[in-house]
Amino acid sequence: MKVSGFFFNNLKLLTVYVLKFGGTSVGSAERIKEVAKLINDGNRNFVVLSAMSGTTNALVEISEYLYKKDSEGANKKISALEAKFLVTVEELFNTEEYKKKGAELVKNHINHIRSFTLDMFTQYEEKEILAQGEMVSTAFMQYHLEESGIKSVLLSALDFMRTTKFGEPDDNYIKENLTKLINEHTDVPLFITQGYICRNANGMIDNLKRGGSDYSASIIGAALMVKEIQIWTDIDGVHTNDPRVVEDTHAIAELSFDEAAELAYFGAKILHPTCVLPAKRENIPVRIKNTLDPEAYGTLISGNQKKETVKAIAAKDGITAIKIKSGRMLMAHGFLRKVFEIFETYKTSIDMITTSEVGVSVTIDDTSRLMEIVEDLGNYGTVTVDTDQVIVCIVGDLIAESKGVAAKVFKALENIPLRMISYGGSNHNISMLVNAKDKKEALVALSKGLFND
Ligand code: ADP
Ligand code: ASP
Ligand code: MG
Repeated sequence: MKVSGFFFNNLKLLTVYVLKFGGTSVGSAERIKEVAKLINDGNRNFVVLSAMSGTTNALVEISEYLYKKDSEGANKKISALEAKFLVTVEELFNTEEYKKKGAELVKNHINHIRSFTLDMFTQYEEKEILAQGEMVSTAFMQYHLEESGIKSVLLSALDFMRTTKFGEPDDNYIKENLTKLINEHTDVPLFITQGYICRNANGMIDNLKRGGSDYSASIIGAALMVKEIQIWTDIDGVHTNDPRVVEDTHAIAELSFDEAAELAYFGAKILHPTCVLPAKRENIPVRIKNTLDPEAYGTLISGNQKKETVKAIAAKDGITAIKIKSGRMLMAHGFLRKVFEIFETYKTSIDMITTSEVGVSVTIDDTSRLMEIVEDLGNYGTVTVDTDQVIVCIVGDLIAESKGVAAKVFKALENIPLRMISYGGSNHNISMLVNAKDKKEALVALSKGLFND
């Protein structure tokens, strides 16, 4: 039985959901009003919001100017952001009282961002700047609900969302603090909080990486043991392929946790790479819904594994392949251990691995320590580095017995050079490494070969 402090209160008969809305879903006054209607549905909803679309990108650009000590460039961008926020205030609120409150809120956050221009600028200041987007969008929503007479409470994610010194969610701390905060408002059916932002183990403002609001929603859903986590976005579910690259994709009705996790990790932008994991751990279904078309079925991600072969294709950009060739490999016990230790030393995780008798190839996406890694690997063999690679990944129920999938994959890719192939690491994934320039052709050919023929 699921037990959580969240259920032991006056509203315990209401079903509890986590509802997360992405940037487009809260991207304008009109969209914020639509979301307000969706969340006020009679359930006890814990609502997680992203920054308004474009805001985090703007904050990243502002930070880049500040790193370069270009305060003129930064100020121009800050003013543009301020203007966008003020238009939202004008359109979102009806009364003079709330228009004033909204303008005051914008002034405070914009002044805070401006205050960094003359200071020393490091990653700590950057993270504080990046946090402002979600703070503004959630405050807009809270004011709008208040102005509309809808009872809700705005909780600061900085009061409960924390990571450990290893950068993982601090689950016990989160659960304890979130439950405490919620139980201070036993008569409130609606909670609003920021996605993406958190504190690190030292209590400093941090974030869960780009797209991290999905992860926030899943962490909160798992902490509160909710009935369902809903990710509301700008498309009607997880599609069979990246709709930005391939035409004729369609939404997948059901995915297992493992399939969704593989797709997210291997590049399906619709989900943050690790967002499925907390939900999977607590066996809480995740439903993807479209804010622009709330009636559409969406995608249900759950513990059910539908026996069907291929579900979807995804691609992860910005991959670097490293090959270590060593004539002594076959004879040398511990060769792989030494290779992996180097990656561990430089805290660089490996996505794909293939081996042969004379060498090993791995891929990484974080190249910040590439120089050191290559230098150390040089002690064990000849090292070759290929940049601009893409992992193309086919996900589904691909158990070894399911005949014909590999044949279809290779037939579809017959004209595309494959740098690495990985199959059998899980029952749910075949991955291939291709040159970035071949990505589109590979995705289109796979869609045709696996879904459209
Ligand atoms: P949000 O702002 O709501 O978090 P995102 O932009 O992060 O939304 O994710 C939704 C977008 O992901 C879609 O608009 C679509 O362009 C892109 N996308 C990439 N791969 C897929 C896929 N397999 N299925 C659906 N959408 C995908
Ligand atoms: N606002 C953050 C971003 O754009 C987090 C999110 O939207 O999930 O990456
Ligand atoms: Mg997203």
